[in-house]
Amino acid sequence: MSKKYVYFFNEDYNKIENPRNLLGGKGAGLAEMSSQGFPVPYGFTVTTEACTRYYADGEKIADEIVEQIMEKVEMLENASGKKFGDPKNPLLVSVRSGARISMPVMMDTVLNLGINDEIAEGLAKLSGNPRFAYDSYRRFIQMYSDVVIGLNKSHFERILDEEKEKRGVTLDTELTAEDLKELVALFKRQYKEEKGEEFPEDPKAQLLEGVKAVFRSWNTERANYYRKMNGIPHEWGTAVNVQMMAFGNMGENCGTGVAFSRNPSTGENKIYGEFLYNAQGEDVVAGIRTPLSIDKLAERMPEVYEDFCNTAKKLEKYYKNMQDMEFTIQDGKLFMLQTRNGKRTATAALQIACDMYDEGLVTKEQALLMVEPQQLDSLLHPTFDTAALKAATPVGAGLPASPGAGAGKVVFHADDAVALKNAGEKAVLVRLETSPEDIIGMDNSQGILTARGGMTSHAAVVARGMGKCCVAGCQELKVYEEERYFELNGHTVREGDIISLDGSTGNIYLGEIKSVPAAITGNFERIMNWADEVRTLKIRTNADSPKDARQAVEFGAEGIGLCRTEHMFFEADRIKAVREMIVSKTQEQRRAALAKLLPMQRSDFEGIYSAMTVYPVTIRFLDPPLHEFLPTKEEDIVALAAELNVTVEELHATIASLHEFNPMMGHRGCRLSVTYPEIAEMQTRAVIEAAINVTKVHPEWNIVPEIMIPLVGEPKEMKFVKDIVVKVADEIIAESGVNLKYHVGTMIEIPRAALLADEIAKEAEFFSFGTNDLTQMTFGFSRDDAAKFLDAYYSNKIYVSDPFARLDQNGVGKLVEMATKLGRSTRPNLKVGVCGEQGGEPASVEFFHKVGLNYVSCSPYRVPIARLAAAHAAIKNK
Ligand code: ADP
Ligand code: MG
Ligand code: MG
Repeated sequence: MSKKYVYFFNEDYNKIENPRNLLGGKGAGLAEMSSQGFPVPYGFTVTTEACTRYYADGEKIADEIVEQIMEKVEMLENASGKKFGDPKNPLLVSVRSGARISMPVMMDTVLNLGINDEIAEGLAKLSGNPRFAYDSYRRFIQMYSDVVIGLNKSHFERILDEEKEKRGVTLDTELTAEDLKELVALFKRQYKEEKGEEFPEDPKAQLLEGVKAVFRSWNTERANYYRKMNGIPHEWGTAVNVQMMAFGNMGENCGTGVAFSRNPSTGENKIYGEFLYNAQGEDVVAGIRTPLSIDKLAERMPEVYEDFCNTAKKLEKYYKNMQDMEFTIQDGKLFMLQTRNGKRTATAALQIACDMYDEGLVTKEQALLMVEPQQLDSLLHPTFDTAALKAATPVGAGLPASPGAGAGKVVFHADDAVALKNAGEKAVLVRLETSPEDIIGMDNSQGILTARGGMTSHAAVVARGMGKCCVAGCQELKVYEEERYFELNGHTVREGDIISLDGSTGNIYLGEIKSVPAAITGNFERIMNWADEVRTLKIRTNADSPKDARQAVEFGAEGIGLCRTEHMFFEADRIKAVREMIVSKTQEQRRAALAKLLPMQRSDFEGIYSAMTVYPVTIRFLDPPLHEFLPTKEEDIVALAAELNVTVEELHATIASLHEFNPMMGHRGCRLSVTYPEIAEMQTRAVIEAAINVTKVHPEWNIVPEIMIPLVGEPKEMKFVKDIVVKVADEIIAESGVNLKYHVGTMIEIPRAALLADEIAKEAEFFSFGTNDLTQMTFGFSRDDAAKFLDAYYSNKIYVSDPFARLDQNGVGKLVEMATKLGRSTRPNLKVGVCGEQGGEPASVEFFHKVGLNYVSCSPYRVPIARLAAAHAAIKNK
């Protein structure tokens, strides 16, 4: 027997292994509701596999699929007692798209399909309601022309408006049967004019065209774009639902509406929705007439209202989740047309999860699964006051690179942001793009706006790390940094003018919008505590300062997984010493510069230990390519030359000699310690001495420093650096009289390290996957340049999503899994974690849980997201 491509609602429902995948979300919901005995109009679903087949066959519907569709039409006729294409007793249907997960870019629904002149006349007689018959007909022509054929829908709307004007009416419902009949003729003329052929009268042809149009809508530019944004594979395909019409446009005891079983914005446990009498389909959301609150239904149709409320409660109970429902009332009878888990704000999600648990409707675990980890983001940053935001109009938009609200005076240089902050004012840093030099300025700003760069640009990554609002890559933005103004869509904004950035939407506003701060309290706190009960993965944070560390602990971090020592080097009082060290010609000079840095690093680490108290801290040794620290401004070069007692020319030559063609693959990471062991010596000294000093005051914290060697690719290299660390550390400890323990481990970020992980684990006491570099080197993509060509990879469907944002489980993930196994084969108790942007990305967190990592480490503001994601992972993979 050939493959089954079409299923009657509820047919073989229990035999389908994964209904959503095969029937799409809408189809599965309709089948499910039918099988549960809810009042759903009969119908059938053409599977997502038929869509995939359509593309495999060169955009054609195979004959066998057409046959199967027509078989189900016959079943529909038998079930309904009506006949498709029969004027005496016509069966009209809707054609509805429906992918696995709801995609707002898919084809709109066509209603009343299966109608033509003769059938409209028949329908008028049969119903005794010609107005209804011709209203259905004109709606069909309108929808078919727009949605299936792609004609300009405004032309049809204009004709409708002109017709209403001519009759002196404002509402569709005021048009008479005769008016509507005339409208049908005008619509058909318009169709012929634009399309060059007659409007199709054959119901079967209408149906097959409708199905094909749904398939086509899977592969439009906007659908591809949406999939890329959301990481949805192209292979999934969409299903098509064909369903007998329930008519809400037969008169005043009919209607249509949408409703949520609870309030989607606050979570309040009360039906929330809107409806219209004598209306069809999307009339409610289209804003043609002002819809009524669902409460009003209780007044005129109390029985239907009660019926609906009961149905909503039952559906909620069945799906164990808040439902978003569509319904139609035909002649006082309720029909359910769709149900799905309703979208909701983060606040509502927490409220509903807690309430449903308290009502005994769901378990703690089910309640946790009702809150999307990523959603929490909006609760973790200061946010704009909702009403104030609503009242404002954006003047432009960029990428929503880091959420939060940022409002303040525009500055174009990092120093100016610092100056404003010191003066007790708020700054928004606007730049073409940012570089490491801007970090302090960024930290002192309320928000960052850049013209260039993507979601993983320097500005975006650093801002997310800081929990700072950032709108990046605003194409329309013209920044004149030297002249200190920018232009955006016709507006000129100068230094000192106030703007507001919404990092969650990417919107840019002129003037200040009021904001409110974030805290984990109430429902949020309750859910987080539940998450901690079920997760097994530990959550650490990436933090370089006591302030970030404290914030992370407040958000529930259980340690620092990555403390980047170089971020401390950028502060004004140290960058000079750092530069001095870099351009040193002799070891002696270098040691002198390092000696200046030692006390600063030591006190930084003391600050970090004190902030983290009993929690473990992993400190990574100096990592970036040195050129990042070098001065570029002439005045800085002159100052540094004076400091070093060399000529400006000499210094220029030294700087030039440090140039690298591929700095990311250059002199960085542990390579710095191999060439200049004195750097590792100084850093070891700072780490160990700081730990000893703090331990003397707080022995009860049991501080055990974890020293992490970056960019290792060879066991001997690891041993070389470790030997330096151990020698220095043991000497200091012996002298101090404090019984300090410490660990030395490595980052796994070079594919070679993953391949030799068993050997490396003999030296390394722990692993931490640096997934940013590991991704970069596994793909061979430069993190800073890939955005330029990755778009072509998305549009050609080679990659679905940005591998730097979401772990590439097939490739990079394989290395992670393999290295973990290899490492534990030689060191069974090897502690393994992840640091990198993906440590806070829910899908990646689930993967890390599955391959048995001990912890993930992410930026402070992602800690609550990671906690919940880890709980989800534990629940789903029990
Ligand atoms: P979307 O996914 O955009 O919501 P739908 O297919 O769910 O598209 O529906 C569009 C509108 O048409 C909804 O209001 C829905 O309730 C209505 N509708 C769809 N099929 C039918 C039908 N068979 N009878 C009555 N109304 C329908
Ligand atoms: Mg729609
Ligand atoms: Mg719908």
